[in-house]
Amino acid sequence: MIQPSPSEGTHALVIGGSIAGLLAARVLSRHFQHVTIIERDHYPTNPAFRPGVPQSRHIHILLLRGQHVVEALFPGIKEKLLKNGAIRRDYGNAIYYYGGRCPALPQLPQLQGWSCSRELLEWQLRQELALCERICFLEGQEVTDLLFEHQAVCGVRSRARNDQADQELRGDLIVDASGRFSKTPQWLKEGGYVAPKETLVPTGIGYATRLYEATPHPFVATQTTTPPRQTGVVMSVEKGMVVGLAGDDPPEDDEAFRHFIEHLPDPAIREAIRDVSPISKIYGYRHTENRWCHFESLRHWPEGFIVVGDAVCTFNPLYGQGMTVAALQIQLLDACLHASWTRGRGFTRRFQRKVAQALALPWIMATATEARRTHWLVQRYLDTLITLLPTNPNVWRIFLEVVHMVRSPRALLDPSIVFTVFARRRR
Ligand SMILES: Cc1cc2nc3c(=O)[nH]c(=O)nc-3n(C[C@H](O)[C@H](O)[C@H](O)COP(=O)(O)OP(=O)(O)OC[C@H]3O[C@@H](n4cnc5c(N)ncnc54)[C@H](O)[C@@H]3O)c2cc1C
Repeated sequence: MIQPSPSEGTHALVIGGSIAGLLAARVLSRHFQHVTIIERDHYPTNPAFRPGVPQSRHIHILLLRGQHVVEALFPGIKEKLLKNGAIRRDYGNAIYYYGGRCPALPQLPQLQGWSCSRELLEWQLRQELALCERICFLEGQEVTDLLFEHQAVCGVRSRARNDQADQELRGDLIVDASGRFSKTPQWLKEGGYVAPKETLVPTGIGYATRLYEATPHPFVATQTTTPPRQTGVVMSVEKGMVVGLAGDDPPEDDEAFRHFIEHLPDPAIREAIRDVSPISKIYGYRHTENRWCHFESLRHWPEGFIVVGDAVCTFNPLYGQGMTVAALQIQLLDACLHASWTRGRGFTRRFQRKVAQALALPWIMATATEARRTHWLVQRYLDTLITLLPTNPNVWRIFLEVVHMVRSPRALLDPSIVFTVFARRRR
């Protein structure tokens, strides 16, 4: 539960009303008298697709760690999501294939959570925020510039689509949560600051997703362990069963989609869709690179302005970290605001550095696959560890908890696991 702030600010502005922006607004409403979310889309009234979040058609797993943060920020939201169609799920009781089928073993802990479409999750968050008097939504407004004043950002300029008239909004704290195509680097340059350096780790993979008729089926994730890279995931959500395929060459038509599934190493996905029909077309997506904008290392940073979510760092979506990492940043924002909110005195710069610290581990996890190609020790260690998963419940449990971010990846370097990995290699 968030604690009320000892020192309240007057007005906070949030650029972008998607996952990071909505969670940020929740936290800000405890520390500011007014919070305005400025979103370029008009929100649909139901849980439905909107153009500002094109990736929402693809499977979006909120990892267990992310579910815990969301449930803490919005008490009772889990029950509401379940009532609106989200599905209870034990992520321990699932079919995973990492070079050998990992069935649910009796010794496995239960990893209880839920799954739903990205659209339902966002819609439910909006319903919760609509109940909060301090929060208002400004829909259909695209932020076009930041307003600078005395080494600080003091507001934004925005414009409605198909409208030439700009409007200006001022605030004590401006939060950029406008996603992977954020204009902050450009805005900083226009304000006389230096644009941040970027680290880019391309993945080369693309996504193809299709919705099928609903059928009760476990969560399935299966992937090839030798080239070409091919991953398939099946997850039931409130409106059907989503089949997501990712690979070097993602399928674009019916025939290629079927062919891709036929050639996955485990038949689970083939079985899952055997008796059901597709109810959507195939949607593709190509922006899957890991990209980190290093705002934390800029020598000069304006007061009154912070950046969160995909606007700071995007991850290879294959590991499902993006929303959870955004939620963790918002948790951090709450702690920082609670400890010391004053406009000025380097608050925003300190926050941006803390965000960078929080990003370090998820970044290693997301880029490990690419790093494996260059770091032979990491490659050999992970490859051997993965061969242990189907037969070693202890390694399996820890691996799953690391994947869901409820345990640090350092757990995979626990001496007992290191010993088992080296024993396997020697054999
Ligand atoms: C194919 C794919 C699959 C993924 N799967 C998962 C998954 O399984 N689990 C997971 O956790 N993450 C997943 N992700 C990552 C996840 O989508 C992002 O991490 C998450 O959406 C980040 O949220 P955000 O709020 O920072 O940005 P976004 O969700 O991108 O939202 C940005 C918002 O800002 C608005 N906006 C943009 N510019 C402006 C402007 N100038 N003015 C006003 N509004 C603006 C947009 O309309 C939008 O509403 C996946 C990503 C992709 C591409």
